[in-house]
Amino acid sequence: MKILFAGAGALGSRFAYMLHKNGEDVTLIDSWQDHVEKIKKEGLKVIIDGEDLGNFNIPIFYPHELTGKYDVVFVATKSMQLRPMLETLKPYLKETTKVICILNGLGHVDTLKEYINPENILIGVTVWTSGLGGPGVLNAVGTGKTEIKQVSEADISTAKDIVAKFNEAGLNLIYSDNVYQSIWHKAGLNCVLNAYCTIIDCNIGEYGSYSEHQKLTDMLLEEVVSVGIAEGVDVKHDVISGNINRIFPPTLAGLHYPSLYQDMKNGRLTEIDYLNGAVSRLGKKHNIKTPVCDLVTHIIHAKEEINNNK
Ligand code: NAD
Repeated sequence: MKILFAGAGALGSRFAYMLHKNGEDVTLIDSWQDHVEKIKKEGLKVIIDGEDLGNFNIPIFYPHELTGKYDVVFVATKSMQLRPMLETLKPYLKETTKVICILNGLGHVDTLKEYINPENILIGVTVWTSGLGGPGVLNAVGTGKTEIKQVSEADISTAKDIVAKFNEAGLNLIYSDNVYQSIWHKAGLNCVLNAYCTIIDCNIGEYGSYSEHQKLTDMLLEEVVSVGIAEGVDVKHDVISGNINRIFPPTLAGLHYPSLYQDMKNGRLTEIDYLNGAVSRLGKKHNIKTPVCDLVTHIIHAKEEINNNK
């Protein structure tokens, strides 16, 4: 099974490393020059839980260097980079190529369907985390699990084979009928923590230390839940709120600054349009007012634009 990782950033390189280590035929593509050159020259350096596990010679290419077709493509870009990546991938897909998408956020199935037959889309959500310690260096901690589901399910035998291969590599992949609920539950958590921590300029624990944090959380989640239910998903306010409150202690994610916060600090565009922005967009479709998500999305865009003009 030839597996292509379309994006060799934090998440892609972690999954690719685990599969490569287990003997799978894995290829990476990325357009970040320093990262690609370093991996071509020295291999991917892997540090997990603080331990340097060595350098691994995983084939990596710039997209224009790629040849051949792949059985499985794991898209691992940021949400706003998904569409350009799908354009890039067209020549490398067979009629049967399965495309796995576990990006954070909402609305990816619609984008994927413009390029991929729903029988070939495996949509999902992950709680694995990962990071990069500079070009060519995967630096990650902990473990996680991932849920996926084929968007159209006439024949899911290949999807089940993929699940088995990922599990042999220790990736803890579950074929789940609750995927859409899990996607919304994670998106709801991210809508609250990514957006508010960035606007307030705090980490997750500090957000939890605000005496009225529950009010802020509830205002936003009411919108997420109404829109999610209108989309036909059984989104549960108490579950998302519980998941948020559970990770405030410093021993869990309390000291962590969410990815959107880090993107903003590093002058990169954020995934806001696939979180609060997506809730606003879908709210309009269902005639549901989403003033909190609208406002939060504008504030994040304002910060992005001001950053960009500096
Ligand atoms: P990242 O920015 O580290 O990696 C994305 C990579 O894709 C980059 O190296 C970039 O150069 C490459 N890329 C983007 N567009 C490209 C193109 N057209 N051609 C070639 N290369 C291209 O991002 P990440 O942290 O790995 O996150 C990926 C997705 O996974 C996001 O949706 C994120 O929210 C989600 N996610 C990340 C984590 C995590 O811990 N990092 C955990 C769960 C979910």
